[in-house]
Amino acid sequence: WAGTTYEWSSDVNRVLHNVFKINSFRPKQLDAINSTLSGQHALVVMPTGAGKSLCYQLPALIKPGITIVISPLISLMEDQVRSLTIKNIPAKLMTSTSPKEETTAVLNILKDKNTHVKLVYVTPERLAKSKRFMANLQKCYADGRLQRIAIDEVHCCSQWGHDFRPDYKFLGILSNMFPNVPILGLTATATAHVLNDVQKILNIQGCLVIKSTFNRPNLFYKILEKPTSQEGCISILEKLLKYRYKDESGIIYTNSIKDSEDLAEELRKRGLKVGCYHANMEADSRTKVHNKWHEKYYQAIVATVAFGMGIDKSDVRFIIHHTISKSMENYYQESGRAGRDGLRAECVTLYRMQDIFKVSTMVFSSIGSLDHLYGMIKYCLNGRFCRRQLIAEHFDEDWGDTDCNKMCDICCNPNISTREISLENHCRVLSDIIDNAEKCDTKLTAQKLLDAWFLKGPVNLRHKGKEPNFSRILGEDVIAFLLIQGYLVEDFHFTAYSTISYIKKGPNMDAVVDDDYTLKMPVRKYSDFE
Ligand code: ADP
Repeated sequence: WAGTTYEWSSDVNRVLHNVFKINSFRPKQLDAINSTLSGQHALVVMPTGAGKSLCYQLPALIKPGITIVISPLISLMEDQVRSLTIKNIPAKLMTSTSPKEETTAVLNILKDKNTHVKLVYVTPERLAKSKRFMANLQKCYADGRLQRIAIDEVHCCSQWGHDFRPDYKFLGILSNMFPNVPILGLTATATAHVLNDVQKILNIQGCLVIKSTFNRPNLFYKILEKPTSQEGCISILEKLLKYRYKDESGIIYTNSIKDSEDLAEELRKRGLKVGCYHANMEADSRTKVHNKWHEKYYQAIVATVAFGMGIDKSDVRFIIHHTISKSMENYYQESGRAGRDGLRAECVTLYRMQDIFKVSTMVFSSIGSLDHLYGMIKYCLNGRFCRRQLIAEHFDEDWGDTDCNKMCDICCNPNISTREISLENHCRVLSDIIDNAEKCDTKLTAQKLLDAWFLKGPVNLRHKGKEPNFSRILGEDVIAFLLIQGYLVEDFHFTAYSTISYIKKGPNMDAVVDDDYTLKMPVRKYSDFE
């Protein structure tokens, strides 16, 4: 697509330079633009910050008519409309909170054959709920003025994605309602499963999928061993912020509102300038925190994932995950907010087995499937393969012999020692412990299982053998490994206050015993930067 000349090619280049003031396209942008201008349905998959908006904003100016942009985030749409207006590109926005006059104005634009407006942004809720909007859109179509429908964050259609929004399902009617109007879906979520699902839901099966690489060569990836105490975590964060990331901007992600508040407070007590951001805060305090961070008054924001889409700060130098993300898709998006300026930035994750269950109980209560989380754990447990290769493979990208350039902890430290662990012996022991617990009607959490394995905790749960001859932390890794492989499974119990994850034997547990399977576990020594 990129190499071919089309009737619109010279206009595309002119608009790129004169209107957007951009010198050249980034990878795959021109492919996306050409495919949609030639009337094809397409899905554009690009990592966050790669420049997806240009793929519909620029085509909107090439041909007559209106481009509808459907996007879930009001603040993001407001930013876009503002920046388009500065470029003298007429764009309007309609959300469920728009004042009546604005709504009426947008509705009239759809009917008005003489309008000069090129882009109309609308939330999926608005589209799904406003009969008048749909009626006027139909009129716009009948007049031949509906040029294109762009659907941002299109993975929100799919339950398999990480951000399902029920109103996105409604978008399935668009391709039938408006035949011959090209649909351009955009997302940073690339798994084949989600993309297929999105095509099905939008009724554009077999459409072009334009995918740019997910490799972010300037991001350094690292796992740090997470201390078991909050005090220990704070001390690591303090050290990182005071020394390694002195005078730099970043985000610390936590998985609960309480954690974000507690950590922010503790870091402030230690003299650091940090803000806190989560969904329970009023909109204007959130905006204030965001601004203070933008202006570099705050070095870091300690946030839940509510601090997400719409962050447009290019010099974010570090993203620290105080708790693992709930999936690799989430991790990629969250860590991807670093280094948009192309300069080196670091993505550090604090990992320890205990956090698996903090997240799994949340994930299980909301979406019921743990596969996504287990993908994240696999990334954390990994001590042998290049981390960016794991990320690429997760997104079904062919890694080949791409060079990491020592931009992950593994490639920096290729001679990490490994330890052979015979699963046969250990699984038998773990299996015995689980049987013992069942006999005495005790439910085992992973921590209790680990204790019993290392001959700690209640005596009646312990086994008759010797204590494993490796570290407890390696024991944690073995249990986590058995869990993501399905040898052990989580068994959730709901109380009025919380969800608890207990450990049961998985269907394969006994198969291991027959297999004499030897695990080659990396011996982690990730307590600090090399
Ligand atoms: P995404 O939606 O993929 O996360 P955006 O569309 O918000 O990314 O673009 C990220 C930033 O990159 C914006 O500031 C945008 O102006 C800029 N940008 C997009 N395309 C180009 C390009 N070809 N050259 C330079 N900057 C670009």
